[in-house]
Amino acid sequence: MTNELWGQVCNELQRTVGRTNFNTWIAPLQLIDLSDGIVSFEAPTKFMCDWVSRNYGEPILRELRNSGVAAERVAIRVPEGRPLAPPPVEARPVVEKAPVAPRRPLRAIEEQELPGAPLDARFTFDSFVVGKPNELAHAAARRVAEGGPVSFNPLFLYGGVGLGKTHLMHAIAHELQTQHGELRVLYLSAEQFMYRFVQALRDRQIMDFKELFRSVDVLMVDDVQFIAGKDSTQEEFFHTFNALVDQGKQIVISADRAPGEIKDLEERIKSRLQCGLVVDLHPTDYELRLGILQTKTEAYAARNPGVIVASGVLEFLAHRITTNVRVLEGALTRLFAFASLVGREITLDLAQECLADILRASDRRVTIEEIQRKVAEHYNVRLSDMIGPKRLRTIARPRQVAMYLAKHLTTRSLPEIGRRFGGRDHTTIMHGIRKIDELMATDRQLAEDIGLLKRLMES
Ligand code: ADP
Ligand code: MG
Repeated sequence: MTNELWGQVCNELQRTVGRTNFNTWIAPLQLIDLSDGIVSFEAPTKFMCDWVSRNYGEPILRELRNSGVAAERVAIRVPEGRPLAPPPVEARPVVEKAPVAPRRPLRAIEEQELPGAPLDARFTFDSFVVGKPNELAHAAARRVAEGGPVSFNPLFLYGGVGLGKTHLMHAIAHELQTQHGELRVLYLSAEQFMYRFVQALRDRQIMDFKELFRSVDVLMVDDVQFIAGKDSTQEEFFHTFNALVDQGKQIVISADRAPGEIKDLEERIKSRLQCGLVVDLHPTDYELRLGILQTKTEAYAARNPGVIVASGVLEFLAHRITTNVRVLEGALTRLFAFASLVGREITLDLAQECLADILRASDRRVTIEEIQRKVAEHYNVRLSDMIGPKRLRTIARPRQVAMYLAKHLTTRSLPEIGRRFGGRDHTTIMHGIRKIDELMATDRQLAEDIGLLKRLMES
């Protein structure tokens, strides 16, 4: 097929899919060749390849056939040897500034004079979208919220930033307040716990402090990693924790990582925290992100009739913004604000224009250097040993972990990875990756290490 013929097909496509879609998705395609019924194109990004294949593969085939080309399949790939992602762009915290409703304290809790933190009225079970990555955490939270006999203590929720830990804890508190008004529920962050404790020490009211914390029916402490390394606060927390567990009171704790992974947390506390049910919130997947976007859009449209979101926009966002739910929400909020300002339907173009910075920041890929640095730090080995020749197990294993992560978190080829690891052969890299794959199946610690490192680098 000639470029001229493809040009004619393009004219047709422009009419059938619309100018905007055409310019965004089809115009950037480079025709490579046609053989055995397969028409091959190159597109600038992996994402575009997937998107165009999925959404425009059919129209392209149809128009090709209409022009007499015997095409059966469209294949789109990124050019080989293309330089990787653009240099990391500093993620600007624009989303943090997105307008949000003020956090409203719940009166029921205020009236009990518990020194808790105000609850966000929006963080309920109703507004929590459940998907594969968070279904266990959700189910456990629901169970606790029933307020029945304590079946696991504590419930320990952990996961990366913005995956819904605080949301779930507030939801438990809301539910208990409405269904079991008689229960004394105390929710606060570990930081607030420390603050109250220090204040009590200063005011010589430590007995009151102890009494108060031991008088609750449900204690929820958010972001417990905060008290790591703070010795007297940890000590007090430990005693409070034990006293409540002994009385059969429910405790819910959250942290950004698993109990065993929290540095500078006393061993006895770690083991106590592991006694109950430990569940993690996994990074979101595409379906969950899309579900959250749809739910939030419906809610917004119910309050603001007349809002129109063109089809494909939410799917596009769910594909592109993979960081965390907070960023996703921020993007949506900004989009709505922008659309209401300009009074236009929310199209793909509008979304791309208005969210350019967020989209660019989400494009950020991890570099091999970064992986080597983080892995070296984690295993306490020298960065230079990552690329050096030492074959000692204590160094070779972390090196293989870094190889494994380089393969999974970047789009570099094996020879490229080999070069970054002191010029090793690609077969060495392949061997390293296989080794880790094998070990992970039996070595839980290793699997957890890798999960943690992945989360660290993807957040
Ligand atoms: P974390 O405490 O884990 O850092 P948050 O609970 O503060 O995260 O969640 C960040 C934001 O994302 C909140 O506005 C929350 O409502 C929202 N969010 C997170 N997960 C979900 C979900 N599954 N469904 C709906 N909203 C969610
Ligand atoms: Mg939180």
